[in-house]
Amino acid sequence: MLVSEAIKFAMGEIEPLQEIGEKWGVVHENEQVKCAPEFRKAFQLYGENGWIAASRDPEYGGQGFPNMMRIVVNDIMYGASQAFNMAPSLTHGAAHLIENFGSDDLKELYVRRMFEGQWAGTMCLTEPNAGSNLAATRTTAFPEGDHYKIKGAKIFISWGDHDLAENIIHLVLARIQGAPEGVRGISLFVVPKIRVNADGSLAEPNDVICTGVEKKLGLHASPTCALNFGDSDGCIGYLCGVENKGLAHMFQMMNQARINTGVSGMTLASTAYLNALAYTKERIQGSDIARRKEGFVPIIDHPDIRRMLLWMKAMVDGMRSMIYRTAFWSDLALELPDGEEKVRYNNLVDFLTPIVKAYASDIGFKVCEKAIQCLGGYGFCKEYPLEQYLRDVKIMSLYEGTNGIQSTDLMGRKMNMNGGAAFEAFMTEIEEFCRKNADHGILGKEIKALSAAGKRLRDVATTMGKQSKSDPLQWASNTYPALMCFGDMMAGWCLLDIAIIAQKTLDKGNESDFHKGKILQAKYFTGAVLPLTVARLETCLREGREIVEIPDEAF
Ligand SMILES: Cc1cc2nc3c(=O)[nH]c(=O)nc-3n(C[C@H](O)[C@H](O)[C@H](O)COP(=O)(O)OP(=O)(O)OC[C@H]3O[C@@H](n4cnc5c(N)ncnc54)[C@H](O)[C@@H]3O)c2cc1C
Repeated sequence: MLVSEAIKFAMGEIEPLQEIGEKWGVVHENEQVKCAPEFRKAFQLYGENGWIAASRDPEYGGQGFPNMMRIVVNDIMYGASQAFNMAPSLTHGAAHLIENFGSDDLKELYVRRMFEGQWAGTMCLTEPNAGSNLAATRTTAFPEGDHYKIKGAKIFISWGDHDLAENIIHLVLARIQGAPEGVRGISLFVVPKIRVNADGSLAEPNDVICTGVEKKLGLHASPTCALNFGDSDGCIGYLCGVENKGLAHMFQMMNQARINTGVSGMTLASTAYLNALAYTKERIQGSDIARRKEGFVPIIDHPDIRRMLLWMKAMVDGMRSMIYRTAFWSDLALELPDGEEKVRYNNLVDFLTPIVKAYASDIGFKVCEKAIQCLGGYGFCKEYPLEQYLRDVKIMSLYEGTNGIQSTDLMGRKMNMNGGAAFEAFMTEIEEFCRKNADHGILGKEIKALSAAGKRLRDVATTMGKQSKSDPLQWASNTYPALMCFGDMMAGWCLLDIAIIAQKTLDKGNESDFHKGKILQAKYFTGAVLPLTVARLETCLREGREIVEIPDEAF
């Protein structure tokens, strides 16, 4: 029910915003941002219909669905319009932070109104000198009675100002006056754009000024704002959670946002693939190379086009399955009683978060690029939506922690966390799957190939885990390709798992192209992609030190 309603809502209300937003962009006038009027209506409906809080506690207006369903809903909504869907998604994340860490007063005042879309939310981390390195955060909070005075400047804040809602609630990282340097001195604050009275009515503006919006490659309908807090000494903020634990609190939102960034990469890729598929069935060009048909043929008949379509299909299915699985495990981690199983699922989600974020964003970009290739010259033109998908999807590898940062997180902190337990949990899942299905009648050969690649991955990653301490420069030169190998392994496992399920259906005599496609894409992936993964793995341990040794002047 939720999925079919989400599809109906996305097609009716959200999908039209993709083109409207691209044409309208955003307007910055008198320190305020204006968006296309249709965006305001859609945001209000989004909140009223319960989409923002689909997976949240009914106590604050949520619908109580599992986290997994929020990811499925986001798949559908982001696929319809990435730029728009960031607004409700950030609102959800910000409200959820207050719900988890805020005082009762903060919860009472803010959470329900945000979940219902009356007010929007943002996450304000980045500063001109604090991008990847949040330890350099300079925004300061000065204690004043029951609140703080906030002073500082944030940049690149998505949906940092707009006219979609009555108020915008910023979740801001700042340093309490006199707090320790580095990440240990960062706290989290709730900073409304317009001050809020005790009864929830709006009071005077809170001295939060939007000084500009970025002109960007993509996401033209999503305002990326520079915000000044307290230029006139009139910006009030409220501590959310524990003093100096702001970054740890914010990580709750960031980890969810990282999975969601993976969802965006995957769903834009999915939409690009479907557009390319439709085009290749219609476009007539060239003759059949084997002369199976007379005259000119649709380009889907050309093996080179089919190669690209099959690669895209496999990658999209692999990414979607990887993401849904991670979301399902995050529900288990949340719902299971304390004990070994809960710890195991927590470990799996921790380990997979940087993989989902970086792999799905980079492969998402590559799928969009391949989709353009399928259209030929038309793919490059605005007449078709693919060039927009390519521009929009690029940001996914940059924000929420760049993919380079994700790779060092995976190959350093995550490899070694809990004495290697997270890595072990991940490898065990794949090894168990391979062991159980090694003699599969149709897919046995492919499963053996996955198993062999898994063994090599285990060795290489273990060696790199140690190298992170003994030879950090060489290690850091290869963390990114290693992360992509983990992503390929996970995608390959998911595709084979899907194929085994599909084969069961075929074995029951249900002939279906849908199920045949699942088997063929898994065989293609293990035959054509996995060997490249194995070769790439070897490059992660190569002895050559060119990356480290090349002098800056030689570049
Ligand atoms: C459209 C858009 C929307 C955004 N939305 C938000 C938002 O809503 N809220 C918010 O707070 N921020 C937001 N950001 C900011 C975004 O999260 C940062 O741009 C990102 O974290 C990278 O920081 P930076 O741009 O300063 O790059 P830098 O940190 O300068 O990085 C530049 C390059 O150096 C690499 N690098 C840096 N440090 C290291 C290191 N230690 N090891 C290895 N490589 C390193 C990076 O991987 C990257 O390739 C947004 C940015 C954009 C463009």
